[in-house]
Amino acid sequence: MTQSLTYLDHNATTPLKPAAMEAMKALLLLPGNASATHKAGRAARAAIERARAQVAALVNAGPQAVIVFTSGATEANNLVLKGAGCERVLASAAEHASVLQAREDIGMIPVLPDGLVDLAALDRMLAGNTAQTLISVMLVNNETGVIQPVGKVMEIAKKRGALVHCDAVQAAGRMPVDIQALGVDYMTLSSHKIGGPQGAGALVMANCVAVAPEISGGGQEKNMRAGTENVSAIAGFGVAAELAAEDMEAYQRLASLRDRVEAELKKAAPALHVFGENAPRVVNTTMFAHEGLTADTQMIALDLAGVCVSNGSACGSGTVRASHVLKAMGVADDLASCALRVSFGWNSTDADADMFIQKWTEIYKRRQKRAS
Ligand code: PMP
Repeated sequence: MTQSLTYLDHNATTPLKPAAMEAMKALLLLPGNASATHKAGRAARAAIERARAQVAALVNAGPQAVIVFTSGATEANNLVLKGAGCERVLASAAEHASVLQAREDIGMIPVLPDGLVDLAALDRMLAGNTAQTLISVMLVNNETGVIQPVGKVMEIAKKRGALVHCDAVQAAGRMPVDIQALGVDYMTLSSHKIGGPQGAGALVMANCVAVAPEISGGGQEKNMRAGTENVSAIAGFGVAAELAAEDMEAYQRLASLRDRVEAELKKAAPALHVFGENAPRVVNTTMFAHEGLTADTQMIALDLAGVCVSNGSACGSGTVRASHVLKAMGVADDLASCALRVSFGWNSTDADADMFIQKWTEIYKRRQKRAS
């Protein structure tokens, strides 16, 4: 089925890489529970520990770091926000829902019109702070691709004695991610955004500051995430992490596809808005809107043409709510309701970009004709 599709929704999920699938297949046939001490159990344990090392390497986690495997980034974000033991949590207004909805008492750090977190506002929010505080700022925004100045967030946090969590789900595999260089305390990763299977993720704890578990019972993952490990998914995640590190340089070719889409669309529609255009952005993502051309109209026409894109974050799709990220950037609801996200991935081709440009231009021209 995927052959006839032009799949440009890699930020929602990116296809499983063949080598990850092979590793998974082998482990699906293995009967071992990783907690068992017999040969089969030890083989399962070895697969998990191999994956842990592969994930650690992707983000340059040091020897003191602890990696907890979870069911995905949503769980990892919940685990750290609820379990880090901080009285106060501040998060950027552009964070993923799994951060923003993990607690009811989150203080919102505003973002600027280009999508970058407002560092001066963060500094003000921390002035005179006495509570143990956790700051959560993502490395790359899933909707706009904007790269946040997490190093600068870290400097401010250090000065004020706060901990920092970074959701690096959309950064891993797309740009170099070095948890030691960033200096953050916690980092979240997701398998299915880097070519591993859905349903696996990790919380990386740089300084081994343990978190209270969300799920108790079996003592797995150093008592931070009970339950028999999903060995094949974790192994697939590990292989995907290793490949993501190896393929990082080649991945940068996607900038030319993204840039071509933006240039061609603007040529056809000079009034096109590209969100976060002047901020640093990851190479695979573009989010744009044209006044009067609603996301629904575009999505329906593109879907009929076999082109898969998103009208914001996948979790928000199917609802008519304007993207909270665009809202936070000060984009008016009318324009936000026209926003489309195109995200390329490891198997995207020039032909995919061409197909999108052709189909989108047709939709735009049809609308112009009707409006005239
Ligand atoms: N954080 C970000 C930035 C994301 O893009 C996503 C997935 N849309 C998540 C967290 C949640 O990841 P998962 O699907 O692994 O729960």
